[in-house]
Amino acid sequence: MIPMVKADAYGLGAGETVRALEPDDPTAYGVATVEEGRRLRSRGVRRPIVVFSPVPPGEYEAAVEAGLTVCLSSLEALDRLAGAAAARRDREDEPVPFHVEVDTGMGRSGFDARAVDRWGPAVARAHGGALRWAGVFTHFHSADVDGSATAEQIRRFRAAIDALDLPGEADFLVHEANSAAALRRPLGLLPAVRPGIFLYGGRAGPSLPPPEPVVSVRARVVLVREVPAGTTVGYGATYCASSDERWATLAIGYGDGLPRALGNRGEVLVAGRRVPIVGRISMDLTVVNISVTDGVDAGHVATVIGRDGGEEVTLDDVADLAGTIGYEILTGLTGRLPRIWETDGF
Ligand SMILES: *Cc1c(COP(=O)(O)O)cnc(C)c1O
Repeated sequence: MIPMVKADAYGLGAGETVRALEPDDPTAYGVATVEEGRRLRSRGVRRPIVVFSPVPPGEYEAAVEAGLTVCLSSLEALDRLAGAAAARRDREDEPVPFHVEVDTGMGRSGFDARAVDRWGPAVARAHGGALRWAGVFTHFHSADVDGSATAEQIRRFRAAIDALDLPGEADFLVHEANSAAALRRPLGLLPAVRPGIFLYGGRAGPSLPPPEPVVSVRARVVLVREVPAGTTVGYGATYCASSDERWATLAIGYGDGLPRALGNRGEVLVAGRRVPIVGRISMDLTVVNISVTDGVDAGHVATVIGRDGGEEVTLDDVADLAGTIGYEILTGLTGRLPRIWETDGF
């Protein structure tokens, strides 16, 4: 298990996420950047930390110094890593680990699976001495929707592995599955998986098992008003009350990560009822029509994502309405929203 805690654990907070995952004894943690890896190290994480995005020239020294495992996509990157390993001052006796990414169709990073003869021997020769080849992996482009495309990528990956002279160490890691692929287990995947979105309560694919909810987003009602027909709301006055209505102003807006696309479209839960967002969403405020509710005052807590009474708005409901994916909603939640961690009670 290599839990992906990149992008501050999909916006939830990498420190708390790692604390929650530690008892499950993960093999390693996955991040995107050297800086993310350094932050995890400074929080006291001792396990291997794999940096999945290609490392920009000039950051190899910092990666080596922090004891991070970089992923290589080119022989130039291998040279840079070797240079940084040769130049380091501490832990000189400990070889610097790296993983090799094999591109089987994702196209954004990795050595080309079709050209394994051109890069494989040089990578194998680099193992030993100052460097240690610790793993090889690929990444699927359509595991959320298409098992056959994934099967083809698996075929290309396995063919590349067969052509590689892999180190024989027992702890050498071969990995390929993101959340969606891990949930399609009948494909015959390898045991090591790199889950991300499923850990954070996001749907991995339309026909895949739904996740347990993990995240709720809540906002305070800061004002309740009875408004007569003809009252307009928000920038552009895009909504106008057609009869007497009761409106609640919520202290949340796109400055908190609530997608502006939900203006006149989204729904939130207030007092256990589903109520519509009216008008455009502002940076700090959102107005909902709570005419169907009773007894809601300033201070009441509205639910933007999560459960209230018998009703639920899921992360993916919000993403679908906003025309995006749960990943973007979660990573878009800004620092203004305090993260409150509960060990149970969802
Ligand atoms: C983000 C990422 C994952 C996790 O993907 P999910 O769809 O969130 O499970 C796995 N592997 C790599 C290389 C990634 O960049």
